[in-house]
Amino acid sequence: MSDKDDGNILEEIQKKLQNMMPPGSKIMGMHPMGSMGAAPDEEEPQGEIDQEAEDAETLRRIRDFNLKPKDIRDHLNRYVIKQFDAKKVLSVAICDHYNHIRQCLENERLLQQDYAKQNILLLGPTGVGKTYLMRNIARYIGVPFVKADATKFSETGYVGSDVEDLVRDLVKAANGNVELAQYGIIYIDEIDKIASSGNMAGGKDVSGRGVQINLLKLMEDTEVNLFSPNDLMGQMQAMMTGGQRGKKPNKRTINTRHILFIVSGAFDKLGETIQKRVDQSSIGFGASRSDSAREDPFQYLKKAATRDFIDYGFEPEFIGRIPVRVACESLQPDDLAAILTSSEGSLLKQYRRDFQGYEIDFKITPEAIIEIASQAFEEKTGARGLMTVLERIFRNYKFELPSTAIKSFEVTTDMIANPEDALTKLIVDHKHLMRGVWEEELDAFTKAFESENSFKLTFTDEAADHLIEAATEADRTLRTICDERFKDFPHGLNIVARNTGQTTFEINLAAAENPDKELSQWVVQSFKHVEESTPAPEADEPVIDAEESKD
Ligand code: ADP
Repeated sequence: MSDKDDGNILEEIQKKLQNMMPPGSKIMGMHPMGSMGAAPDEEEPQGEIDQEAEDAETLRRIRDFNLKPKDIRDHLNRYVIKQFDAKKVLSVAICDHYNHIRQCLENERLLQQDYAKQNILLLGPTGVGKTYLMRNIARYIGVPFVKADATKFSETGYVGSDVEDLVRDLVKAANGNVELAQYGIIYIDEIDKIASSGNMAGGKDVSGRGVQINLLKLMEDTEVNLFSPNDLMGQMQAMMTGGQRGKKPNKRTINTRHILFIVSGAFDKLGETIQKRVDQSSIGFGASRSDSAREDPFQYLKKAATRDFIDYGFEPEFIGRIPVRVACESLQPDDLAAILTSSEGSLLKQYRRDFQGYEIDFKITPEAIIEIASQAFEEKTGARGLMTVLERIFRNYKFELPSTAIKSFEVTTDMIANPEDALTKLIVDHKHLMRGVWEEELDAFTKAFESENSFKLTFTDEAADHLIEAATEADRTLRTICDERFKDFPHGLNIVARNTGQTTFEINLAAAENPDKELSQWVVQSFKHVEESTPAPEADEPVIDAEESKD
């Protein structure tokens, strides 16, 4: 096919795509991965300029990477409680990785030399901060981050292109900036679920081994196509923007050499296996283990050796590509309490912010913190248990309090024991303040009504009382009740205003109780007003004789 044919085909595709788009929209240059970017000769919107400046700054920081392991550790300490080993190991691995990138950028010859990438395996129970550590690191350095579950790949059966989607997702996370995505972090959870032993169905590998091999390729130095073979639209777009004559073609692939891979998993069975082994040898020496060790097989993950992972069902090459391994600890009730009180990302802080959205504040007693932590510990889902417990405690508070006059409350052990009763008591105790809230709501309704319809409504006390009672009985807001009752008023009042010039209307008890009936009376009266104010014909005006006018 000649260049000319190529051009014709491109034009045709362009026309077809244009026809598929809403009128007025233009086909623009596309960033890889499909995010729209302005064509080079068009003016770029401010948001994109900001994004570009931000990306350029991140790239500069990567090129000038100068953090020390302790900088990273200190940053992590602000958010992540405990996990001291993991913080140390990760800080060193991350600094090595980004120092290596900086050195390669300074001296390309280094790329020819062997380098064992610092891919990391994080072991440990769920909800103890494995993802949280990595997210915080990625955010600190400013590199894109994606997380996926390894089980997703085994489910598809045919896994080849799927693992590559991870890299494409990273480009998406980098807003289409391929250069930035090259230095990103890919986090794959539940890696223990793709151990191959026991996964062979009739000799056909349906998951584990195949996924491991595909992941292995990614972890090494490989080029990944930016468009999945299934993404025909993306490929067409790439062809158009990349193939236009006179323009530099867009890059169609991304290299994985500098992408850092973190894999993680609970590996609970592995913990148990090592526990048995250690037990046997310690019994041999006449030692006994502590009760806490007996309960927590995860403690033994620290002792996992390469052989253990191979026995568990990992390919030696695969596990060999993940040289940095560290086990995260289970979180104890004390740790969960510390997460609530001292982590900068604490959920309690988030709840506080949520309530502050309605100018509501709460106090929490130290005993209540301990109680929440111990209930969360019983959930056995690590720090995720905190979310379950807090949600249970606060759910109805978040729903009810914004519509009351209550601006502060206290979280105590009694309240945690029975949040519903405590809430009811709180609302009853503040009932006398509700009048003010209702009045505010009524005021908000009249203001909205006035700005939408240019009519001012005033409510008599009896009318307001009646509406408040109706709202309370129906458990609906005053706004909903008013919207419903007075929905025909704008139209009716328009007629009245036309006939009488009146623009302020008083809603009395009758109008509040039976708005439509009252409104019709107002309308009828307004017509009477017109009749009354129309001057009667004057006496000396000639009267047209009906008989005469027939002729
Ligand atoms: P996993 O270990 O399963 O990857 P995550 O890191 O996703 O667990 O933890 C879930 C949430 O729990 C985090 O987003 C964070 O809010 C909180 N969390 C977990 N562990 C810790 C910790 N050690 N310190 C502070 N917060 C934590």
